[in-house]
Amino acid sequence: MAERLADHTTLRLGGPATRFVTACTEDELVAAVRAADEAGEPLLVLGGGSNLVVADEGFPGTVVRVATRGISPDVEGDGGVIVTVAAGESWDDLVARAVSSGWVGVEALSGIPGSVGATPIQNVGAYGQEVAQTIASVRVWDRTLRGVRTFANADCGFGYRHSRFKADPQRHVVLSVAFQFRQGSLGAPVEYAELARALGVERGVRVPLRDVRDTVLRLRAGKGMVLDADDHDSWSAGSFFTNPFVDPAALPDGAPAWPQPDGTVKTSAAWLIEHAGFAKGHGTGPVGLSTKHTLALTNRGHARTADLLALAREVRDGVEARFVIRLVNEPVLVGCEL
Ligand SMILES: Cc1cc2nc3c(=O)[nH]c(=O)nc-3n(C[C@H](O)[C@H](O)[C@H](O)COP(=O)(O)OP(=O)(O)OC[C@H]3O[C@@H](n4cnc5c(N)ncnc54)[C@H](O)[C@@H]3O)c2cc1C
Repeated sequence: MAERLADHTTLRLGGPATRFVTACTEDELVAAVRAADEAGEPLLVLGGGSNLVVADEGFPGTVVRVATRGISPDVEGDGGVIVTVAAGESWDDLVARAVSSGWVGVEALSGIPGSVGATPIQNVGAYGQEVAQTIASVRVWDRTLRGVRTFANADCGFGYRHSRFKADPQRHVVLSVAFQFRQGSLGAPVEYAELARALGVERGVRVPLRDVRDTVLRLRAGKGMVLDADDHDSWSAGSFFTNPFVDPAALPDGAPAWPQPDGTVKTSAAWLIEHAGFAKGHGTGPVGLSTKHTLALTNRGHARTADLLALAREVRDGVEARFVIRLVNEPVLVGCEL
């Protein structure tokens, strides 16, 4: 029986894969990628499936699920630690280990689903932190050069939900990621206003790592943003749209604005969606906006990818009609488009 990708995505959507391979070692991962490339077959690299929308028709090629393991800390003389992590490790397990080991800098990224190897792809971020702040280097298999390469942080092209790996999506298979952490018991200064409020501190204050993790997990759970099989609000790919960057003159009255160095302002996709008339829980039938968070498009139980895409288009087009701002999807679309 062909493997259904719905069984491997957090949206629980996606048809069958022609071939499905699980790679438990780096050698197996590279061998599977090389075999697909040499056969001229389409390839999909799959981590936790938490940022993927796969077509109902499935994937006409090889899907390689990355299940490599290994976390290797290497203490540095100046009190820091370099931790090299295999791509297939669970991101949140790594964060939990960081918090219990006193590795500072990823505590606010607690509760994000998926694999470590996917985190550099869109420079995963939340609650004032992003992985670009702690990644030292990313080791990849380069499918064009057919060899292993290591990119130092400065060469990864990190930006808001972006990197050179996302810009050139078919080229790099992440094998491992090296993080550079400071060591300590207090987290990085809390930069995010909502998190600072929930912790009862001013912005910029440092609090114990454990308190940051517990508070972030609580905030995320309240928004359906931690996976919970019993909660359809978490049958999603997280935020479906990125926050747009607009010319200040085009900013709608009352919209949140975060000024950028290039003169544009970043605004809130959630605000735009709500003010275009889409409330939490919008939608009838098999898909809907999360009842807890406007930005998450969710599978209410028996959805097809086509249903989800129709809802995404309705929201995107509604926002564009109201504000002349076109939202862009954050998850990777496979075999389908908006
Ligand atoms: C409930 C929920 C909450 C979320 N919250 C956040 C959040 O707060 N912040 C945030 O940034 N994201 C968030 N996300 C999105 C998602 O969890 C992240 O983008 C995560 O890093 C995806 O990891 P994954 O292993 O599931 O990747 P997948 O979904 O399996 O893959 C995503 C993309 O990365 C590629 N990829 C995966 N592994 C590799 C690899 N080893 N080498 C090369 N390419 C690879 C895939 O081919 C695909 O293009 C959330 C998702 C959900 C469901």
